[in-house]
Amino acid sequence: MNTRTGISRLLELNKTHAAAFDAPENTLARRLYRVQHPTEIGVFKCMDGRLHLPVMTNTAIGMMQPWRNLGGKFNLGWPGLLYTVREWVSYGINKGRSCMPIVTYHFSRGDEHRGCKGFNYDTNAAIKFSKELKEQFDRVFGRGPVYAVQIGIETDLEALILHGDNGEIVDLSEISEHSQDDLSKLVSRLYPNMPTIMQADLLPIIIGNIAHIAEIKAENRPIAEAEHQEWVLGIGRGFDWLHEINTALLIGPYDPRLWKTIAVGAGLLLDNINSGRIDPKNGVVLMTSTIYRDPIGSNRNLAEEKTKFLHDFAVEVITAEVPDLLPYLEHFVTTVDMNTRVLDVIE
Ligand SMILES: [Zn+2]
Repeated sequence: MNTRTGISRLLELNKTHAAAFDAPENTLARRLYRVQHPTEIGVFKCMDGRLHLPVMTNTAIGMMQPWRNLGGKFNLGWPGLLYTVREWVSYGINKGRSCMPIVTYHFSRGDEHRGCKGFNYDTNAAIKFSKELKEQFDRVFGRGPVYAVQIGIETDLEALILHGDNGEIVDLSEISEHSQDDLSKLVSRLYPNMPTIMQADLLPIIIGNIAHIAEIKAENRPIAEAEHQEWVLGIGRGFDWLHEINTALLIGPYDPRLWKTIAVGAGLLLDNINSGRIDPKNGVVLMTSTIYRDPIGSNRNLAEEKTKFLHDFAVEVITAEVPDLLPYLEHFVTTVDMNTRVLDVIE
């Protein structure tokens, strides 16, 4: 074990997706989309590798800012989270854009044990938690230029479940015949007080998901593919170039109980190996990543120090809590230039 099979696969994926990100037509399309749909979208979700919202909504890389933690559990009072959310909101508002935090939970309609490990597969507890988190956003930011919504992610069909402010719940897999006009009406019925521009920016996400669900239904994929198959434990930020469903368990460095979260993620990865859902010969990777925007100077240096720290910390956790995983792991310590999504390999 411990060849570089997994790392090679990741470098290849990064090359493909960073090239797509950098292609002039895509860069222009993103800028145009930004002008047409200015709302900053932030997604708060579970570490679970099956939850890739940009893929599920046919949205380009970089249009949704992800935050990841076990169970999609967050608290705006966490020091490590607070400043990233504050920065994100200031950035949006300074650019004249509204901000929409999408607070999510996830489940499987076919089997509760394909649901969220972070809530011990208790979907009602996950729904309750995400509702409370949305209410925390409301308390902190009010309901205007920052307007939070609660959305469920059903992983069998990769369908979004919209929770309206009026209490109405809409499963997008149940919408087949529709016009854009019908969907606009649906959004304004669910979120009557949401600023009109934000309603218009939520619409392409809904339309994208309905199209994606149709593809998933047409594929008629085996249910095993809806089970955990992650082969990467990713810790840090800047993984959105990894534009693939069910590849990585991702943990942001926000939770003061990061030790416990990494231990759960490592346990899930080991379970993927032990249950035969993934073949360790194809590579199992512990990857850390941190981001920088300014490629010269201390910003980038700090990102390097942080990714090295996160790697050492993760190894300490895994050694103590899930030692059986260690022999399988390839170690990949990286930073990402957010201007290009290109990885720098640190170690
Ligand atoms: Zn989960």
